[in-house]
Amino acid sequence: MAGEELIQRWDTYLSKLKERYTEIISQAEEPLKEVIENLQFDNVIIINIKTGLQNQAVLQVYQKAEEGWGKMQGEIYKSGKLFLIKQEAVKLQTLREWLDTEFMKFEVGLFARAARKILENVKQHINEKKIHRCTQCAAELPINIYSFMAINLKCDSCGAVNTYQPDDRIRALEYYVIEPLADEYALEPKLRRDKDKNANKESFRMYYTYLMEHVPEKREAYQRTLDERLNNPFFS
Ligand SMILES: [Zn+2]
Repeated sequence: MAGEELIQRWDTYLSKLKERYTEIISQAEEPLKEVIENLQFDNVIIINIKTGLQNQAVLQVYQKAEEGWGKMQGEIYKSGKLFLIKQEAVKLQTLREWLDTEFMKFEVGLFARAARKILENVKQHINEKKIHRCTQCAAELPINIYSFMAINLKCDSCGAVNTYQPDDRIRALEYYVIEPLADEYALEPKLRRDKDKNANKESFRMYYTYLMEHVPEKREAYQRTLDERLNNPFFS
């Protein structure tokens, strides 16, 4: 087979694999809609679905590309145009990057959709107007029900210290809602991180800033983690 013909065949093969990816993801949309609609207070089922889809849409599709590349290499050897090996191998890498990027966008979007649904559910089940009273003197305590850690609060009237334990569903918002929404917020620079060194740091900064704003009780811990990540030579 002539070089031109080989290249064309390889390009067609790779673009069909991209189509296959797109097809798998769009076929998942309807069932996913229903799953999200039926979520309650966690996203465990979404994690399982994501793993399955990643396997099917990314790993298996890429495996097909590698198989095709094996055949392509054989044809290139037969054609004697060995320079094509280096030239065309790049396209395999490009496909891998494309699959990973597309799936990252899909995954982050999926978890953000689930997060919004879970938040809606929690808000419906939490009584935001409930009055919290001091266990000693029954004075009203200024409790922020969207707290993520147990807090000790001194009563203004009698001085007794009251411990407030946030509702488990509210505590869990940190993992099932706020982190996925932070991922969504920090996605744009993350998608550029392979080509732009600063983008990775920008993404970390945005991610942790979002967490600090929404989980103020853990601001210091998040700030420490962010500083560690920004100063880690591995990431710079
Ligand atoms: Zn009191």
